[in-house]
Amino acid sequence: MKAASSHGSTSTRADSPVDDLAIRFVNTAAWRLRSEIEERLPSPAELLMWLQSNGLLSKDQRTSLQRVWKQNEDVARSLYGSAIALRELIYNLLSARIDDRAPAEADVAAFNNFLSSHVHSAGIAWRAGEYGWEVPSSQVSRTSLLMPIALSAAELLTGVRASRIRQCQDDRGCGWLFVDESRAQNRRWCSMGDCGNRAKAQRHYQRAKRQRMASENS
Ligand SMILES: [Zn+2]
Repeated sequence: MKAASSHGSTSTRADSPVDDLAIRFVNTAAWRLRSEIEERLPSPAELLMWLQSNGLLSKDQRTSLQRVWKQNEDVARSLYGSAIALRELIYNLLSARIDDRAPAEADVAAFNNFLSSHVHSAGIAWRAGEYGWEVPSSQVSRTSLLMPIALSAAELLTGVRASRIRQCQDDRGCGWLFVDESRAQNRRWCSMGDCGNRAKAQRHYQRAKRQRMASENS
């Protein structure tokens, strides 16, 4: 199943193609440009649900992992911590690209450290007419679970679409990232149905207000 995201947590974006895995993961933190971000993965259990709905775990794998994690909270916390750390690392690397500046050396080193561990523990599988990631149940580990996300980020950062990565220009601090696939390369918002609509309504309101003031002054 492919999961898209929107500010309403369950609806899908009708106006944009499904984002890269890395971007979907980074956007599990909403309202990044506000002083307090909204964490959409507040617990290890929510992380597992996300991994399942983004095709990185089967339902059986998720439920059995959840059982293991219930008995061993340290394992759960450690994997959860790694996932969130990886997410923030990817955000930092993508942000540097968006801003055309060099990333922090420590971020690159930490990301490479992640990439170089057990690359081969995740593979692809043919399921219901599509390729998807598959982590063998016997090899479920921190790196095998998160590796597809790291690889998606590496590909995005080094690929032909890197110059099209953007951050939503919503003035409330949305902060979601997206890849601008528009021909004109002028997409400004994460979603036309959400931040884009609001900006349009705002412009409309400002224009009407200016017109009203102009007619009152004339
Ligand atoms: Zn937005």
